[in-house]
Amino acid sequence: MVLNPQIDAEVRAVLDDGDHERFTHIVLEGYTPDDGEFVAIGNSVVEGIINSSVVQALCGKTWVPGRDPQKYPLCPTCRDIAISLGWDVPAT
Ligand SMILES: [Zn+2]
Repeated sequence: MVLNPQIDAEVRAVLDDGDHERFTHIVLEGYTPDDGEFVAIGNSVVEGIINSSVVQALCGKTWVPGRDPQKYPLCPTCRDIAISLGWDVPAT
């Protein structure tokens, strides 16, 4: 997937609670072109929590979100990808 640099990424950090190592991952929920409405990509984290549906992180991990994301460090792979794309990385 190629993102236009002028596109704003909508990211949300969520807890991965399925693995031994726990990280907060970044999920791309969609983007907003300069001249258009928000465009959704896949399931949002909120939808995942409400519907128990799977979301996918930048690093490729998929899981069903469901807990407070503030307790764990940011996934280094997600962080590197987000930074390389020029996105704002969620504070941890
Ligand atoms: Zn990740």
